[in-house]
Amino acid sequence: MKAHDGMYIGGAWRPAAGTDTIEVVNPADEQVIDRVPAGTAQDVDAAVRAARDAFPAWSTTPPAERAALIGALRDQLVARKDEIAETVTAELGAPLPFSQMVHAGVPILVAGSYADLAATYSFEEKIGNSTVYLEPVGVVGAITPWNYPLHQIVNKVAPALAAGCTVVLKPAEDTPLTAQLFAEAAHEAGIPAGVFNLVTGLGPVAGQALAEHEGVDLVSFTGSTAVGKQIGATAGAAVKRVALELGGKSANVILPSADLAKAVNVGVANVMSNSGQTCSAWTRMLVDSARYDEAVELAAAAAAKYGSRIGPVVNAKQQARVRGYIEKGVEEGARVVAGGAESTADQGYFIQPTVFADVTPEMTIAQEEIFGPVVSIIRYEDEDDALRIANGTVYGLAGAVWAADDAEAVAFARRMDTGQVDINGGSFNPQAPFGGYKQSGVGRELGPHGLTEYLQTKSLQF
Ligand code: NAP
Ligand code: MG
Repeated sequence: MKAHDGMYIGGAWRPAAGTDTIEVVNPADEQVIDRVPAGTAQDVDAAVRAARDAFPAWSTTPPAERAALIGALRDQLVARKDEIAETVTAELGAPLPFSQMVHAGVPILVAGSYADLAATYSFEEKIGNSTVYLEPVGVVGAITPWNYPLHQIVNKVAPALAAGCTVVLKPAEDTPLTAQLFAEAAHEAGIPAGVFNLVTGLGPVAGQALAEHEGVDLVSFTGSTAVGKQIGATAGAAVKRVALELGGKSANVILPSADLAKAVNVGVANVMSNSGQTCSAWTRMLVDSARYDEAVELAAAAAAKYGSRIGPVVNAKQQARVRGYIEKGVEEGARVVAGGAESTADQGYFIQPTVFADVTPEMTIAQEEIFGPVVSIIRYEDEDDALRIANGTVYGLAGAVWAADDAEAVAFARRMDTGQVDINGGSFNPQAPFGGYKQSGVGRELGPHGLTEYLQTKSLQF
């Protein structure tokens, strides 16, 4: 696609208030592919005003009409799926088949699920002598990361529109072209002027201005825990609703009765997917002492197969950060059994698929989110030890449990401090609530639980 040189505000592409731009770089070859405007507080203010102006009409539009427009938006994403996949590949570096299947495919499912929900959800309930109305919260400030650029946008915008909210989006500086494509799709779908607005720009400038704006009623943020804490504090001080989807350090718990080869292979694939840039990735693999050496061999072989099949990480800073973690792992005494810190490519921000053995639960690589293709294999003695290790980080976003039967895995999963657990390789459900326990966040996205984040209640007594 060709980048727009303005902001999408009030239903039209308008010139930015300032003249600064952001370079969009292809992480596979380090070439600048385009430029977008770097928004300022002035652009954010114009976008928030447009969203406020559009709110009275949109919030009172019958849900069935909102549903039809979200359905039209889904159809626009379907019509543009090749362009979406090519754009994500160009600015994120994901291999094209992964961009087609996941980066373009999943947001279509999510948009479709909210078109259905908007049409069928009951925005009214009776409790005793009260009628309770579920009303839209107001203007939403959405701040999204680069790792699943369209998915993170649709996860916020689709339920917000279904609820009757209007939105201002500040996407990640690394992936603004996908966000511009989404704005084109919203426009073509006939989403009314001002209901969805886009301001591209830098986090500490445009993002912060959006989070602080008094015309924003709810801030929905996905990204790092460090920035999430700031946004939560800002929202708290203004008594503003906030949803935070933050980092993770999920455990893949392989119980002694599990099919080891399957659990290890699926576990390694889970981390290598999107080059490890997935907040819910199962980056800690927990294996019992008796089968530890076998698991290490299987994991090293699985990672080696990924070799050159994975894409780069998003930018030079992330590449340096991930390499730093790999070096730290070695320094602290973990053993590299696949990959390593050296890059084998002459250009592009590539990291080798890496597996660490002899990782202990307190090591930095077992505690901090690496956000790269790095798996740590940790030994446990018995189930209680496995549980203590699984729950032993500040995070609690996702995880997996493998056992000979589902009931045994479920019993373990119920003791985990985490928001989502895949049982014996259970598949992704785009309507299941997604979100964190502990420092992985506040609030839930996707499905009906994701919709309620954008609603507030009003009770009338009779
Ligand atoms: P980040 O800095 O938290 O960025 C997320 C979003 O917040 C981006 O749109 C960013 O803008 C914006 N932002 C940054 N500083 C802000 C501020 N002071 N006020 C308001 N908005 C602000 O995350 P990142 O730099 O993209 O990635 C760093 C780490 O975050 C990763 O290594 C990973 O650990 C974590 N992460 C987690 C998820 C997740 O889904 N949970 C996703 C991505 C990253 P800019 O793009 O301009 O920085
Ligand atoms: Mg950042």
